[in-house]
Amino acid sequence: MGLHRNPFAAKLAIMRPSILNPLFADITTLKGVGEKMAKLFAKLLHVDAARLLDVLFHVPSGLIDRRFKCTISQLPVQGVATLEVKIGQHHAPPRGVKVPYRIDAYDDTGQMTLVFFTTYADQLLRQFPVGEKRFISGEISWFRSEAKMTHPDYVLNAEDFDKMPMLEPVYPLTAGLSSKLVQKAAHGALAKLPDLPEWQDSEWLKRQQWPDFTTALRSLHNPLELNAVGLNRLRLAYDELLANQLALSLVRNQMKRASGRPMGGTGTIRNKIINKLPYQLTNAQLNAIFEILADMTSNHRMIRLLQGDVGSGKTVVALLALIAAVESGFQGALMVPTEILARQHLANLSKLIEGTGLRLALLTGREKGKVREELMQALQSGDIDILIGTHALFQDGVTFKDLGLAVIDEQHRFGVHQRLALQAKSPGQTDLLVMTATPIPRTLALTVYGDMDVSKLTEKPAGRLPIDTRVLPTSRIDDVLAGLHRSLATGARAYWVCPLVEESEFVDLANAEKRFESLATEFPNRVGIIHGRLKGAEKDAVMERFKTGELSILVSTTVIEVGVDVPEASIMVIENAERFGLAQLHQLRGRVGRGAAKSSCLLLYQDPLGETAKARLAIMRETEDGFRIAEEDLKLRGAGEMLGTQQSGLPLFRLADLSIHGDLLATARDDAGLILARDPKLQTPRGEALRTLLYLFERDEAIKLLSSG
Ligand code: ADP
Ligand code: MG
Repeated sequence: MGLHRNPFAAKLAIMRPSILNPLFADITTLKGVGEKMAKLFAKLLHVDAARLLDVLFHVPSGLIDRRFKCTISQLPVQGVATLEVKIGQHHAPPRGVKVPYRIDAYDDTGQMTLVFFTTYADQLLRQFPVGEKRFISGEISWFRSEAKMTHPDYVLNAEDFDKMPMLEPVYPLTAGLSSKLVQKAAHGALAKLPDLPEWQDSEWLKRQQWPDFTTALRSLHNPLELNAVGLNRLRLAYDELLANQLALSLVRNQMKRASGRPMGGTGTIRNKIINKLPYQLTNAQLNAIFEILADMTSNHRMIRLLQGDVGSGKTVVALLALIAAVESGFQGALMVPTEILARQHLANLSKLIEGTGLRLALLTGREKGKVREELMQALQSGDIDILIGTHALFQDGVTFKDLGLAVIDEQHRFGVHQRLALQAKSPGQTDLLVMTATPIPRTLALTVYGDMDVSKLTEKPAGRLPIDTRVLPTSRIDDVLAGLHRSLATGARAYWVCPLVEESEFVDLANAEKRFESLATEFPNRVGIIHGRLKGAEKDAVMERFKTGELSILVSTTVIEVGVDVPEASIMVIENAERFGLAQLHQLRGRVGRGAAKSSCLLLYQDPLGETAKARLAIMRETEDGFRIAEEDLKLRGAGEMLGTQQSGLPLFRLADLSIHGDLLATARDDAGLILARDPKLQTPRGEALRTLLYLFERDEAIKLLSSG
């Protein structure tokens, strides 16, 4: 899956300062990089086509330090060493015998062996002339008491010795690319690095002892001094974080500029619904509703985030907010990331508003032709009060009569692009409520939401029982099946989640279809399967049969991860749990434990289990606290992966690593605020430079906001 390029990129490229053009050029513009290698780079960098910029922002994962120079008697037990040796005898393997080619090497203190696999003798004789001295550098290993160096990284004579890099970056790689090749490409790109204006405050740079951007980037790929490495990286990380915070502040400023319209509603319909609820609202829900209504009633535009762990009851809060807008004569919209979820919301909300006369409608990619046309007309004439749908809601041609409140559910699934599309739909006065279940640590929240107002659902509805979570190897699947037989006999319903639909040649993941077949044999007529490839109507039908209890087991890919609510389901089985992120496991587990029955979650893993995976599954067993899980996940995996950046459209940091540079984020936010307070349109010389920074880190959308209004 590639990094999703900004769909506006093509349009905006015209506006990009031409000084940056060389960096946005395709990697094939580098000498020595052909189509084939370009493909490898694209794979390595998770993009469709790699540009120079992508290579430059590919951060080394470590360093090889060749500064340790020694004699043979001083060779380390392991690690990289650099030494001068005299070349001794060559031992070519006899024809047809599969042993390595060996060369003796010695100095005054002892003897060692250089080892080569599959290399031509002529070449080795040329490179290692018997009796001559050579500087060699490479990884040391030992066989009994003899030191070996297998395929030295460098072999140089005395004159060329200074060509050996003492510190060498090691890059994350993909098959077919070596660190040397990546570094070579990076050096090629560095040679084309234009002279960029300084966008950071010079006083601040001095105080931090940070170099300029170019120097920092150069030394990232060509480190000369170990203690400079950290500072260089900090500078680059801060550049990226500042670009992120500046972009968010611009979005927020733009959104806040419009004053809102009071729409607290009369409360008649609202109270009717609250009285009819089959449960008592929790205090947390009441508080959130109170905060939201206060915002909506005021003259300010609401931009609020409602954060609440899975199952904390966000939907009803959203509904009550939407009703306030409708009671005030406006329309409401509820956008959700998947079609399943849209339908589920429609069904649930329809029940809750029965008898109120409110008109709900559904719009997804599936509504086409005449149905869609009629819908559009009803929407425009105001015959629809609340429109529920997927991102189809904000496509061209969808016009509301007067949209008062837009709610975005499971916001982490949508990117800044959708937020901007929504921005364009609403005439600047639409209140905005975004909801997320993803418990985001504070640092990460800043990068995604900037400084939105936040309401939190800190408690779950009363009476929820803790979920019994167990971790066990797939080899014990027979026990799992036996347990399922017992549970199903008492009327329980279970989800069974598999990671992939089709056999992949690369990874041996459980196959949902195969699992479905085997479970269907075990439990005839009671198993259904749901996955992303099914047509919409087929998905609905399966969901419906599971909801009504006609099916007892729902085999699924991760399509049920977000939002699905079947309170009667009390068992969650997750296969290859070690392949899922913690946040995802938490979301999946959140599908159960919603009803009165005691629920359980079985995390099946494939042996052998790595250390990190073990730690992750242990956390799942220990706690159901989403925040704690998120913090641990951040520690274990780093921010990028944590939320599944690719799907979620979260800003993907390339130079900053929040687990290391998280502290800088708050500074960057304050900095961005200060910058925009002084220079709201980025028109001063520094402002101009900061625009370049925004383009460089592809936060272009924000620049568009500068020119609009
Ligand atoms: P989420 O926050 O994950 O979106 P939902 O809104 O889907 O959670 O609510 C989860 C379940 O809890 C639903 O079945 C809903 O009807 C129920 N629920 C919501 N609020 C309460 C409450 N105050 N008491 C009991 N059940 C509630
Ligand atoms: Mg929800």
